[in-house]
Amino acid sequence: RSAEFLALQQRHESNARTYPRRLPIAIEEASGSFVRDVDGNVFIDFLAGAGVLSLGHNHPDLVAAMTAQLGRLTHGLDFPTPAKEEFIEAQLSMLAPGLRDRMKFHFCGPTGANAVDAALKLCKTATGRGDVISFQGGFHGSSHAAMAITGLVSQKQPVPNGVPGIHFFPYSYCARCPLDLTPDTCTTNCAGYLERSLRDGNGGVPLPAAVILEMVQGEGGIIPARADFVRRVRELTLELGIPLVVDEVQSGCGRTGTWFAFEQYGIEPDVIVASKALSGIGTPVAVILYDRRLDVWAPGAHTGTFRGNQLAFAAGAEAVRVFRRDDVLGNVRQRGEQITRALAGLHADPWVSEVRGRGLMWGIEFADPTDGGPAGELATEVQARALRRGLIVEVGGRADCVVRLMPPLNVTAEVVDTACAILVGAIAEATR
Ligand code: PMP
Repeated sequence: RSAEFLALQQRHESNARTYPRRLPIAIEEASGSFVRDVDGNVFIDFLAGAGVLSLGHNHPDLVAAMTAQLGRLTHGLDFPTPAKEEFIEAQLSMLAPGLRDRMKFHFCGPTGANAVDAALKLCKTATGRGDVISFQGGFHGSSHAAMAITGLVSQKQPVPNGVPGIHFFPYSYCARCPLDLTPDTCTTNCAGYLERSLRDGNGGVPLPAAVILEMVQGEGGIIPARADFVRRVRELTLELGIPLVVDEVQSGCGRTGTWFAFEQYGIEPDVIVASKALSGIGTPVAVILYDRRLDVWAPGAHTGTFRGNQLAFAAGAEAVRVFRRDDVLGNVRQRGEQITRALAGLHADPWVSEVRGRGLMWGIEFADPTDGGPAGELATEVQARALRRGLIVEVGGRADCVVRLMPPLNVTAEVVDTACAILVGAIAEATR
């Protein structure tokens, strides 16, 4: 039946399908960390709606909160509502006190890209400047502006006349250092290069409206930024008066073991972009949190019809309660350590060039041992073999050679054990 559904999809939907091309299943029902396809096969879901389902599929408490809200109010434009205020209070309660007092919310259209666009527009309005600095290999969304600041080229290459004034700088991707340095010669030269370019009045970059950064590049291949890189970027942007936007669409809402990933870097940004896992159950919501100093928009300056999804607000407030009650952040850290141990043996595999991650955001990068080049076909083969053994994982990264693990954040130790065993087996088979 999956094959029939896939054929129907091919007939009716755009050729730009992503996930089902490599994961050829039609899915029908799901619960927690498990998905069932239309043929009755059950899979462990380490894709989790591309990181959206932080509490797994259909968490009963979130379903109950949404059901209660359903009869009351579902769409509220940008009117204040009890559900929205509860959501905001819940989100604020997850921030450090200093940040909590500084931040305001602007709800954006329903997706991460909408919030990224809003962040850029706000910073441009506030600074009166038009340029934006972004990083190689980053991903920020498929809208025109979010795509323009995306470093990954596959989506934008065939699109002429992009957004002007975007400058890409190297990200601290140490496994394949963009400046070709080694651990003994590196002095965080990627950040140093950004600094020199910004200070150079003779052909360097103009002072930008914003620097936008992922703390852990997700689509780029699960690459956690180096701490000294992030700290230098923060120091520099503070000194030069450039708003620092952190895109926590993927890394936020507990994914890395803290509510936001930037907390682990000891910095505070000027703008936080969040979306994916905000509701915990896949009901769309996207928001920017920004420093009050940037509160420059005139009334009506940034609108959007879908800024008041009350079901998402109800689920999101409940999700925060569940995170606290069940110590989900503690689980993220423990299961993350479990994954580190379970995958430790992969370091000996000549085809595995790096295993890296934070919390429950993991990437296994494959490279050809003969020349070190990316082994994309192998990563796809591992994904296919894992699927056959009952595990859904994604493949991504700059050269499509990284198997990505993004389980629900309340995944159990037992499921992690099974998933890692499947994955290790699939890798052994594929590299044999
Ligand atoms: N930013 C980051 C870091 C993302 O990972 C994504 C989605 N993968 C986006 C922005 C765009 O979000 P959306 O797909 O909801 O527009």
